[in-house]
Amino acid sequence: MPKQSKPVRICPVCSAADNILGNERLWPPCWRCPFCGHTLVIRADVPYLAPELDGEDVGFDPTAFATLARIEGGHFWFRAVLRVEHLSRRAGLRSPIGGSRVIVARKRA
Ligand SMILES: [Zn+2]
Repeated sequence: MPKQSKPVRICPVCSAADNILGNERLWPPCWRCPFCGHTLVIRADVPYLAPELDGEDVGFDPTAFATLARIEGGHFWFRAVLRVEHLSRRAGLRSPIGGSRVIVARKRA
């Protein structure tokens, strides 16, 4: 049986790994990086890991999000990506995809 690593969160500022303990949320609203002291920006209960990028969609037409959200449930590529994301999170692993536009499309639609 492969060795299971402990789940960690990666600080968006200093990239240090911080252990996620027990049933702790991935990004608790009161989280503070134990290494650099960074705290999260929380808006409507959503942690913003890069708030300086909020509202920017450089290189991607924002009007395409509605189309992506409409087709993602039945398209083979989106289904495979979502399955990988789901299995990674369930296993407590960081996504090998590194987050995807699919998730962004779903939130914005
Ligand atoms: Zn940090």
